[in-house]
Amino acid sequence: MGHQEQGQTLRETWALQGFEVESVEIEESTDRGGRPAVKLVRLHDVRGVHVCPQCGKRHREGLFEESMERRWRDRSLETYVVLTPLRIACCGGTRVEQMPWEVPGHR
Ligand SMILES: [Zn+2]
Repeated sequence: MGHQEQGQTLRETWALQGFEVESVEIEESTDRGGRPAVKLVRLHDVRGVHVCPQCGKRHREGLFEESMERRWRDRSLETYVVLTPLRIACCGGTRVEQMPWEVPGHR
């Protein structure tokens, strides 16, 4: 399987979950200690739903984007998912939306 095909599979996998793959980058290690380069998969959320981490309520509208993008390590340990989550108004304040892979029991 070539690189192009792998990228295609990645896009399709995320598209099924409601995310567009914006870019895939390789981040080279900055130290010389042998840490391997990691792959950064930057996602764009097109699900149109934002879930409160506290009560699980689904919101159609987000308030604003977090100022910092967040990274989640993939099961492969060499890939990070990069995304800027939205804040939602819920539970008497603002909450950072919960991503599907943060839910306990998600595959
Ligand atoms: Zn809530």
